[in-house]
Amino acid sequence: MPRWGPTGDGAVVSYRLAKQRVIDAVESGQRMPHEVCDAQPELRRVAHHHSAKINEPCPMCEGEDLVAVTFAFGQGLPKAGRCVADERELQGLRRRGKRATVYMVEVCRQCWWNHMRESFEVSGTEAVAG
Ligand SMILES: [Zn+2]
Repeated sequence: MPRWGPTGDGAVVSYRLAKQRVIDAVESGQRMPHEVCDAQPELRRVAHHHSAKINEPCPMCEGEDLVAVTFAFGQGLPKAGRCVADERELQGLRRRGKRATVYMVEVCRQCWWNHMRESFEVSGTEAVAG
């Protein structure tokens, strides 16, 4: 799991059920693996350079190269979202004075499976020690 978390900012939305539906659809032949292992070039780039390892096998290829990439959306942030590369950047978001929604996507760097993993809100007003 990534080394930072959503502590103190309210509920975390899990996308576990939606993800399982996609996995089931592939396993039953309703969808082809290439339809769900379709990470876009920008997502692949971020997965290579600004991601955190997830200690779970990839649900598609069962490879060991599953990572989490994190993006923030909100007022004052780029329309395409801002990549949150580490804890320091997340702390910056927490202190920004503006609300943001943070989305974590899991990406497999072997087959390029990708799916939303969880999301949470940051208030932007949190005092962070240090
Ligand atoms: Zn994979």
